[in-house]
Amino acid sequence: MTDTSFVSHLECSASGERYGNDRLHGLSSTGAPLLVRYDLSAVAAAVSKAEVASRVPDMWRYREFLPLPHDRARVSLGEPMTPLIHLAGLEAEIGAPRVYVKDEGRLPTGSFKARGLAMAVSLAKYHGKTRLAVPTAGNAGAAAAAYGARAGMEVFVFTPEDTPDVTVREIAYHGARVFRVNGLINACAKIVREGTGHMGWHDLSTLEEPYRIEGKKTMGYEIAEQSGWELPDAIIYPTGGGTGIVGMWKAFAEMEEMGWIGSKRPRMFAVQAEGCAPIVRAFLEGAEFAEPWENAQTRAAGIRVPGAIGDYLILGAIRESNGGALTVTDDGEGP
Ligand SMILES: *Cc1c(COP(=O)(O)O)cnc(C)c1O
Repeated sequence: MTDTSFVSHLECSASGERYGNDRLHGLSSTGAPLLVRYDLSAVAAAVSKAEVASRVPDMWRYREFLPLPHDRARVSLGEPMTPLIHLAGLEAEIGAPRVYVKDEGRLPTGSFKARGLAMAVSLAKYHGKTRLAVPTAGNAGAAAAAYGARAGMEVFVFTPEDTPDVTVREIAYHGARVFRVNGLINACAKIVREGTGHMGWHDLSTLEEPYRIEGKKTMGYEIAEQSGWELPDAIIYPTGGGTGIVGMWKAFAEMEEMGWIGSKRPRMFAVQAEGCAPIVRAFLEGAEFAEPWENAQTRAAGIRVPGAIGDYLILGAIRESNGGALTVTDDGEGP
């Protein structure tokens, strides 16, 4: 069988420079995230909404929009479509017409990191990698460890020293080698970057390889399909490294180009913790890039990301959508 995917090329998110789909990519030559591009007219000829609707309800039902060649083995632990749960009580409390939460906790290892890592590890395996490494505040490490184990690969995880014990043990139980680092996630990321050469690691850091976004964007496809291909008015998203917002925004553009949805977009809102809010600060200042946040502190470990390499992509999606960015305290108090 031949390798079948609809990927046409990869594109630097900053300069637009094109890259071939013939090898495993990291960042662009200028150090910016790469985005995967598809031949969407070929996809449109190959698959319909009705066809997608007839498939198994998991993230792979959107396979024509995903970078793994269709005849290649997925590294999968079963990634179900997650439900939109209607929150009637909250609607009454805040006076909103319709509120749903997408329960991403039902994915393997308990977070939506599974979507991105299922895809990134699948591509790493396809390209013959045997050693993975990831810096993480916790959930990405658990997912990398689980999917790496599934693929029979060695996994190295670096996590801030104050990462909860339960998370460190979860990663270790999956068989990964996990190290607590004297610093925050950016210190962990530096170790991983430096080890790609002599340790032979494939770097799975957020947006440093282009495939986690592709997995994560399936949230956008699911929301569209579950809403009858009519997007909601607003999406409120807990924002760390930004693969979710950037991925969903990319999914919406792809679906519109396919003619599967109209031009209506949700207003995209990034929510960050009061003690670590670089994107919110940059948004309020009208800046294109976010300065790193000093002394990042929050109990919400998954969003304790003081600096995001895709900051301009997150801010771009928020602004283009006429959305916003806001903080909450660790006790859940809004602004
Ligand atoms: C990683 C993570 C986030 C942030 O997601 P991004 O798409 O990287 O911005 C939010 N919540 C939880 C629980 C996470 O694990």
